[in-house]
This record gives sequence, structure tokens and C-alpha cells, in this order.
Amino acid sequence: MGLTVLMNAGPWLSVPPPGYGGIENVVATLVPELRRLGVRVVLASVGSSTLAADERLSVFADGQFPSLQRPYNQVCGIAQAHLGGVVRAVRGRDDIDLVHDHVEAVGLATLAAMGPDGPPVLHTLHWDLAKHPDLYGQLDGGDRVRVNGVSAAQLARAPAALRAHSVGHAHLATPLAVDADRRPAVEKGEHVVVLGRINPGKGQEVAVRLARRVGFPLVLAGPVGPYHRPEELAAAGDQARQNPDVRYWDERVAPYVDGVRVRWVGTVVGRDRDDLVASARATLFPLRWEEPGGTAVVESLALGTPVVATARGCLPELVTHGRTGLLTEDEDELADLLVAATLIEPDECRQEAARRFTPAVMARRYVEFYDRVRDLAGPVLKAA
Ligand code: UDP
Repeated sequence: MGLTVLMNAGPWLSVPPPGYGGIENVVATLVPELRRLGVRVVLASVGSSTLAADERLSVFADGQFPSLQRPYNQVCGIAQAHLGGVVRAVRGRDDIDLVHDHVEAVGLATLAAMGPDGPPVLHTLHWDLAKHPDLYGQLDGGDRVRVNGVSAAQLARAPAALRAHSVGHAHLATPLAVDADRRPAVEKGEHVVVLGRINPGKGQEVAVRLARRVGFPLVLAGPVGPYHRPEELAAAGDQARQNPDVRYWDERVAPYVDGVRVRWVGTVVGRDRDDLVASARATLFPLRWEEPGGTAVVESLALGTPVVATARGCLPELVTHGRTGLLTEDEDELADLLVAATLIEPDECRQEAARRFTPAVMARRYVEFYDRVRDLAGPVLKAA
């Protein structure tokens, strides 16, 4: 189809990410499928990225994520420097048909500020849209800058000015969904898993209290702030408590973690993560925020594990209540739902994932968005 897209993954982590990295994982999942569909991809990332692309550009040699622990006034130039490189690249050539941007706030602001002779832009919103009200509340990208969400529920929270730029939503995908309906079933254990960053929004405190009250084995997988292993957190000592997620862990979660019935295994990746989730009788999402995209939700389905969750954010869009999981508005009901979840067929979960959440499904949706964004932008000035 001859379309060239500059995919702006940003300066924070390499693509694919070395461990935890939601946005970089989306880019790593999307780009190979786009290229299969004939899209040329110029990847704007960091020098250490290994994802295959038609071309790459970078301002930084390595991911700048560790710098995010430093005060704002020391780090606020990083994303701007990266975006400066993107703008110079786009201005210096005439073959970029569209920029697909993933950089929170700075990407949108910078690309919108390029004015009418800038390229068509699709900016994917990966986060809670109640954030950045000053930027989103008065966004003016003209006909050229559009946004998409990762769920309808997420976009519903956007200020009107941001929503006016929206071309819709594309649910997140997982490579685990490819042929998920053909993989052999995995024997289920007794354990329940909570997979995600340990923080108040993800609601691990609800899970540990339920496990203590009802007595089921619970595994918490995920980092606490920047700490991926229990030993790392222990070694960091008191200064770690400057991080709000560490305080949440210390005060609300850790008192219930006995290392036997309720365990924290740190961040698990790759095969270990897949085995942990596939052998669980359910994954639990006791959410206390409006989950915008829910990668871990679609991964659970792809691995044949029913989802039990509070019906918040994107959960009702991703999980079919009674068929691939059980949802409730009332967190006191979660314990009953965990029992009932044994009646959900793992095959149903895997079939649904193979139908709805593959990288190919996501990539087709983005190609539709690219066409729409370019149509809405009208003739591009570079051709004049
Ligand atoms: N994850 C992981 N290991 C862990 C915990 C989480 O690999 O121990 C992954 C999880 O599989 C998912 C991502 O981290 O791919 C979390 O994405 P999600 O959209 O669920 O949550 P976010 O952190 O972006 O809010």
C-alpha cells in the first residue's frame, strides 16, 4: 500500500522492552503486523532497540527510564529532546505519510505545535484521560492531529476538546492470542493470580484481604514502584518509602503477605509469567481505578484463565460476563465470583482471545485509523 509511518515509541525504554514496559510492548506487537500489511515503519526509539523496522532513528543510545526517578526539573528535557529529533526528521524528508505517536503529553503537544504544515498525526492515549486536564482541555490539533484510545470507557473520561480529536478506540492485543484456541489446555492449580504493578489502582490490598478471609492461595506478580524483586526492595531500605507505591505496599499489602498462602513473587516475565497465569484458576483484578487498556486482562484470556474483576474501566468491554469471566460492581462479591469462576470454560477464554485480541486484529484497526486520519487531514502541504 506504500504507506510510511513514523512510529514514535519515545525515549524511555528500548523496544521490545527488557522487562516491564506497557507502551513499548504495544509497539513491539504492532510493528511486525503493520509491516506484514505492507506499511513501511520508521521506528523512533532509543539506540538499543532491537525491533525490526524499515528504518530507525534515535536521540538517546539507551532507555532513559531510570532518570524518571529524578526530580521533574532534572528530567523534563528528556522527552523534549527526543521529540526534537522526531520533528527534525519529519521536516527533513518528504516521505513520512503519518506519525503514530505514543509519548505521553509531550508527543501530542509538540506534534500539534508543528502547525498546518506538519504531518498527519495519530497519538495513541495509553493512560487515564483524567490526567493532563490543562493540555487535553484546550487541545487544538486542527484537521491534522487525531487521537485514539485503547477502550471506549477510557475515551468516555476524556475532556470534550480531546474527544473531538478522537477517531475511536483500538483494544490492546497480545501475541499470546495467536492460535490460542489451538494450544493444548493447561492443568489448573488452586492459586489465584493478580498480575500488574502493585499500586492502589490495581487494588492488591483487596486481593490480600480476600485471600486471608476466604483462605485461597494468592500470588501477586508485578513490581512495587521501581523494585522488581523482593530482595531489591528490602535492600533499598527506608529511602524506598519516598515512592508512594512502596508506602502502599508496606502499609496495605505486605502485612497480609505470609509467603505461604499469600505470596509476592516480584515481576515475572516470559514463560514463567505465562505458566503462572495459565495454571491459575482465575486472574483477579480487584480494580480501584478505571483501568484504561488492560493488557494483562487479554493475556489472561489468551492463556485460558478466566478473569474475575470489578467492573471498572475497560473490563466490561474485554470480558464477557458469564462466558470468559465474572464481573461485579461490588468488591465484597469477588470472593463468591472466584468460586464460581471454576465453571467458566478455559476454551471459551482462549477462543475469544484468538478472535478479538490478536496483533493482526489490532494492526488492521490501526491501518483503518491511519487512512481516516489522512483523509481528515486533507492534502498534505509537503506535496505543494
Ligand atoms: N507484567 C509482567 N510481569 C509481571 C506483572 C505484569 O510481565 O509480573 C506485564 C503484564 O503481563 C502486562 C503488563 O505488564 O503485559 C501490564 O500491562 P497492563 O495494561 O495490564 O497494566 P499497566 O501496567 O499498563 O497499567
